[in-house]
Amino acid sequence: MAEVAVVGSGPNGLAAAVVMARAGLAVRVYEAAETIGGGTRTAELLEPGHVYDVCSAVHPMALASRFFREFELERRVELRLPEVQYGTPLDGGRAALAYRSLEQTASGLGADGDAFTRLMGPLVEHLGGVLDVTQNQLLRMPANPVAALRLGIAALEQGSPWWNRRFAGDAAPALLTGVAAHAVAPLPSLTAAAAGLLLGALAHAGGWPIPVGGSAAIADAMARDIEAHGGVIETGVRIDSLEELSPAKAILLDVAPPGLLRMAGTALPGGYRRALETFRFGNGACKVDFILSGPVPWAARGLAGAGTVHVGGTRVDMAEAENLVAAGRHPGKPYVLVAQPSIVDAGRAPAGRHILWTYCHVPKGSTVDMAEAVMSRIEEFAPGFRDVVIGWKTTTAAGLAEYNANYVGGDFSAGLMDIRGLVQRPVLSPVPWRTPLRGVYLCSSSTPPGPGVTGMPGYHAAKHALKDIFGLQVPGLGMRA
Ligand SMILES: Cc1cc2nc3c(=O)[nH]c(=O)nc-3n(C[C@H](O)[C@H](O)[C@H](O)COP(=O)(O)OP(=O)(O)OC[C@H]3O[C@@H](n4cnc5c(N)ncnc54)[C@H](O)[C@@H]3O)c2cc1C
Repeated sequence: MAEVAVVGSGPNGLAAAVVMARAGLAVRVYEAAETIGGGTRTAELLEPGHVYDVCSAVHPMALASRFFREFELERRVELRLPEVQYGTPLDGGRAALAYRSLEQTASGLGADGDAFTRLMGPLVEHLGGVLDVTQNQLLRMPANPVAALRLGIAALEQGSPWWNRRFAGDAAPALLTGVAAHAVAPLPSLTAAAAGLLLGALAHAGGWPIPVGGSAAIADAMARDIEAHGGVIETGVRIDSLEELSPAKAILLDVAPPGLLRMAGTALPGGYRRALETFRFGNGACKVDFILSGPVPWAARGLAGAGTVHVGGTRVDMAEAENLVAAGRHPGKPYVLVAQPSIVDAGRAPAGRHILWTYCHVPKGSTVDMAEAVMSRIEEFAPGFRDVVIGWKTTTAAGLAEYNANYVGGDFSAGLMDIRGLVQRPVLSPVPWRTPLRGVYLCSSSTPPGPGVTGMPGYHAAKHALKDIFGLQVPGLGMRA
């Protein structure tokens, strides 16, 4: 019997298992689905030879993550950078484009170039300090208070009604809001601004890479490492009760709070149980994946080389769409997140064809198929888009929740991303990964630092489990460790 049981093989469950197996412990991972990976699965789309990322596709957060840097992800998975990290189409065939070079980005933003550099430059320069804030529990003294302050001040500005204060044109604001809107939050808001500034700064550091072969390559690299260190991974096994895992000394749960409630039941003290019962989830996503007969005919030529495109018009248009979702409504003209993986990884589709990954935000639990609205929105900025569409597959927010128990109502952040949701994740505690049951830890993105393929919730949970239960430190995680 394993000393360590990990429930769920999302990136956080796998990260926790890597750390525990590397420490020399006997680890067993249980995954409910038939394949590993959680939000990092890659599958066939409609026809043989076409592969798409079911959930995550673009990985600036993995590249910057402390766990993945120690794990040397870049040596295990080929991560390709597009020519343009991300972009936003604007009317008149224009686009705002973010390159790895901050200078090149600023020079495309006309009169607002200097203002953009003054906003983003200090964050890029002090990125280590910014990451220290965003990869840990917020309730701690930052290692670099100056960097934390810079992020806070920039987020206060970009998260307030004065967000246009420094800009004259529409390109720089649209570029920034396209990234901030990833947060599935009202616009402007502090959490959306902070998320946007972090992701924006990452574009000018490591970039926004796309893994060759799809996101599953990341999960596979971790699975190989777990198995190489004696761990065992079982798929098709849903755990419904902690009793099924005894006598494991440490249990790490890559599940959202309802999952822990189901498994632990009345064993949890009342106060903690109530905190889990009242844990708040955010709105959802409706995913639409396309097979195309050729590249997207963007009116703005620069977007052909963009790994990610934020389609939603101006800053005001995007805010309108996101605020409708926040109010529980479906926008007729949604903000659409688009990734073009096959422009850097030709193996995703047969010669000449392309895969297009898109989603838009929708109210929690939505069963509405947004494919038509998504196509119309793209067509506005890429006339002739419908002519290159061969087929598509929609996964509604309700469908996402069915696909993965952690995405309650289609909320792929596994918990609302407002200030309270960031610090009380799922409880207000310096060690929120630890549950009141000895040896039982939560390690999903319902714990800090939250969503994204970072492995950091898993890393933190494993670090505490190692220390509390086995008196061990985090071992080396690199290829030669
Ligand atoms: C449409 C979409 C697009 C996204 N795009 C990006 C992106 O481009 N970049 C990025 O960084 N992030 C992206 N994300 C977010 C990212 O995928 C998640 O934040 C991340 O996968 C969370 O990891 P996790 O390990 O906490 O949980 P998950 O990846 O959700 O994995 C949890 C796993 O646990 C399993 N499980 C749950 N309960 C049980 C049980 N009782 N027994 C056994 N197994 C169980 C589930 O089946 C699942 O496999 C996206 C997500 C979605 C849905």
